[in-house]
Amino acid sequence: MLCVTYYLSYSVYPPRCLSQMEFQMSQPAPARPTVVVIGGGYGGVHVAKALDDDARVVLVEPKDAFVHNVAALRALVDPAWLPRIYYPYDRLLARGRIIRDRAAKVDAGRVVLASGEELRPDYIVLATGSAYPFPAKHDVDSATAAHDKVRTAHAALSTAHRVLLLGAGPVGIELAGEIKAVWPDKHVTLLDVADDVLGERFRPDLKAELRRQLAGLGVELMLSSPLRDNPPVPPGELRPFTVVTQAGAEVTADIWFRCYGVSPVSDYLVGELAAARRPDGFVEVTPFLQVAGQDRVFAVGDVSTADHKMAGAANRQAQVIADNIRTLISGEGDLRPHEPAAPGIVVPIGPHGGSGQRPGVEDLVAAEVVAELKGRDMMVDRFAGLFDIIPPDPAAAGG
Ligand SMILES: Cc1cc2nc3c(=O)[nH]c(=O)nc-3n(C[C@H](O)[C@H](O)[C@H](O)COP(=O)(O)OP(=O)(O)OC[C@H]3O[C@@H](n4cnc5c(N)ncnc54)[C@H](O)[C@@H]3O)c2cc1C
Repeated sequence: MLCVTYYLSYSVYPPRCLSQMEFQMSQPAPARPTVVVIGGGYGGVHVAKALDDDARVVLVEPKDAFVHNVAALRALVDPAWLPRIYYPYDRLLARGRIIRDRAAKVDAGRVVLASGEELRPDYIVLATGSAYPFPAKHDVDSATAAHDKVRTAHAALSTAHRVLLLGAGPVGIELAGEIKAVWPDKHVTLLDVADDVLGERFRPDLKAELRRQLAGLGVELMLSSPLRDNPPVPPGELRPFTVVTQAGAEVTADIWFRCYGVSPVSDYLVGELAAARRPDGFVEVTPFLQVAGQDRVFAVGDVSTADHKMAGAANRQAQVIADNIRTLISGEGDLRPHEPAAPGIVVPIGPHGGSGQRPGVEDLVAAEVVAELKGRDMMVDRFAGLFDIIPPDPAAAGG
């Protein structure tokens, strides 16, 4: 029991003792600090959701729906998947606010939106991710416009006989597998300047297994094959063309897609925060995921230097950032560092194929496990659940 004497000018009551609860109720509730999360991709939505009960969360995102781009390539070959990979933001947060706008200028403690609205939050989380060429990611903010773009590309792709994919990393391999799963007779060429598929971080036996499966599907692999010039036709358009490699080999195709080129989105940083932006656009962070030189500004996901550019890594970082912001709010305890995971990946080749590697596990991930983890449902149920949505069955959705 807490004994507090209180006087009211008009009170005739004598001083009395208050219970702890009465005391707390008599005090003005401390204002909850404001956290502005800029960007509602994989990293941003997880931070916003995790802090919804602890702070006044404001999520700034120009798109009208979250895009589950992990499944974007499936939607290109089968547009019946489109309604399954766009989730409206309205049921993401129980208490927080979503502002449909784009951050135009962000400095420590100040966010100016494209509309001109200005926010002065206690904490800022940069979660603007990365851009990637279509169809892996989209540059349109309306789900309807994005659906139209995918359907147009699908129509073009479905009539093409020969497809050229530039870039034999995870996206190129996955797209080759998706195309072959729907149209086994199309001729698919997967071309890269590197001398192997997938990229340097991964194990040679995984690369060999992926090459084996691609060859089994009849995908033509052209490695160590830089082109003299880019295709003379925009990507995703049905128009036959021929390109020539520097070694003189000719490749003729009816359509092509660019399957490389992650570029971080951080051009809105100004003032003190611009100093943390590296020349390549990634934002330097500390082990606690604070932006370098800042206590109350954090960065999560693809935009940050913290980790591999993966949705899973963004999710793990989001939990660390939410914990660290809670620690700063309460003033109790220590910040916890983020520990990047060792390289691990699953690469589907169509709904039933693919392979992968897991940290500390000698055996490659078997195709049936890849199908279980990603290839079959493309993790749709897991992400739709975050938005309190039951995704429609693709068979029922109709193309
Ligand atoms: C085809 C494909 C398949 C993939 N598969 C996997 C997989 O199986 N597993 C895996 O772990 N990872 C996978 N990835 C990687 C994963 O998609 C990325 O790592 C992930 O998108 C990163 O999330 P993010 O939140 O950092 O950024 P993003 O997802 O890029 O989200 C950033 C958000 O910020 C918004 N934004 C941008 N600028 C502004 C601004 N100025 N103001 C406000 N908002 C802004 C954007 O609209 C966007 O919604 C895949 C990627 C691709 C392309």
